[in-house]
Amino acid sequence: MKPEERNIKENMLKEAVRGRLLLHICCAPDAAVPFRDLKAEGWDDIAGYFYGSNIHPREEYSLRAEALEFLAEREGVFVLMEPYEPDAWRALADPLAEEPEGGRRCALCFELQLRAAAAEGARRGATHLGTTLTISPHKDVALISRLGGEIAASHGMIWQDRVWRKNNGFLRSLTISAELGLYRQNYCGCLYSQRSKGACVE
Ligand code: SF4
Repeated sequence: MKPEERNIKENMLKEAVRGRLLLHICCAPDAAVPFRDLKAEGWDDIAGYFYGSNIHPREEYSLRAEALEFLAEREGVFVLMEPYEPDAWRALADPLAEEPEGGRRCALCFELQLRAAAAEGARRGATHLGTTLTISPHKDVALISRLGGEIAASHGMIWQDRVWRKNNGFLRSLTISAELGLYRQNYCGCLYSQRSKGACVE
């Protein structure tokens, strides 16, 4: 493609992207590719949202929050950090403590995070809702897509239905994380996933 044709295409893409996107972020490594790709597509009004109360223990939460703050600064994306309230998350998730990873507890966890993100997005006038969760090879993208679509619609937003692990997305996230020296966890996040370390990283 000639340079002038590329410029025309990029300008058309930017014209098409006029929304305000609230991007739910599960962790810094998973956000690196969405940040870069969305900006390259012309999204220039993006806010990230980090829930974090599912993460155990507090020291692990701090490591992940610091990594995200570093990435946000580096990539020039504003990120909202929700106050850390693990007791509130556990009050809802503990009844599903015995569920396997990928089961009903994780569905609840996704829903809690996406609902919190959507509520914040609605308060801030976001037009679109998305998530970085789908970069993980371990996550149920069909479930996330269904939940995200329903939750976005219930808050008057459009769901950005992206499967970030496509097109080597996960591999790219590993590469960028290594380049930037980002902290990478070795379990999904909650107390239960910490006990079964390695089963569902990300
Ligand atoms: S394993 Fe991960 S997705 Fe599932 S409940 Fe725990 S933190 Fe949430």
